[in-house]
Amino acid sequence: MKTILLLVTFLCLSFSATLPSLGSGETDDDYKMLYSSGDKFIQIWSDHEIDRQRCEAIAERVRKAYTFDSEQEHWSDQKVLFQNPLRVRVVSSIKSKILGYALGKDVFVVRDNYLDDELSEGTLAHELTHIQDARQLKGGKIPSFIAEGRALTNGHNYRMSLGQKDNKYDYQMASSALKYSSADADTILGEFYDTGWDMEAMGTFLVEYMRTKWHGTGIPNVHPQLSRMIEHISTGVDAEAAFAHQFGKPFSELQASFMKYLDDTKQDPAVRLQGTIWASLKADGPSDDAE
Ligand SMILES: [Zn+2]
Repeated sequence: MKTILLLVTFLCLSFSATLPSLGSGETDDDYKMLYSSGDKFIQIWSDHEIDRQRCEAIAERVRKAYTFDSEQEHWSDQKVLFQNPLRVRVVSSIKSKILGYALGKDVFVVRDNYLDDELSEGTLAHELTHIQDARQLKGGKIPSFIAEGRALTNGHNYRMSLGQKDNKYDYQMASSALKYSSADADTILGEFYDTGWDMEAMGTFLVEYMRTKWHGTGIPNVHPQLSRMIEHISTGVDAEAAFAHQFGKPFSELQASFMKYLDDTKQDPAVRLQGTIWASLKADGPSDDAE
């Protein structure tokens, strides 16, 4: 457990985030378009030379992760996902330890050498979820913890679909889920549009709670249902009204039920992992073969 806790700082700074402010001031003029896919949907832009073969390989990985996300989300309208090209900025470095982020609805920024780390597959599916949500929201907003919960579960499930094993990042997330209290949930879920580790970890825990345990049985198709909520928001409805419309209960009921669950499980928090994406993780940290 100690090892996991020590990793908190490193991982929350290094994995991924949606941080539009990081890219402010930068435009496509600062980058050169190196590649456009045959259907013109995926473009690779960079601040340095990348050979065509690598550009093609990156574009194919992006397309595969984007397709995976759209299959998870069951959007009613797929067209909006493909109306504008997807611009992938493959950069030599990013100001901060963040390795990749979505910039609005059209641009995904990632550090070039990070793409050689298998964890980056999860970052692709994560950030492309943010891009799909942004395209479907059409200017509307969803709470950060819902956005991060969707993105992180897609990122995890995509890595697993590629045959990867749970890694230190997954243990870190699970560790946060084990230690959160109802007071933490009250604070974190009380802020709809913040960023950072707690939005990511609690958001993932909350979306997994909704999927596996809310109302006793959970909502197995919570991702498609959240997509319906997003489509409703895109018509001008605010997030809380759209949530109540989709789930038949106000968000405050979900929050109260989640907080009660955290209280009920605080003596035996390991049960919180049951049925979730972290179900196979042992609470005391990664075994050697999970490294
Ligand atoms: Zn994110």
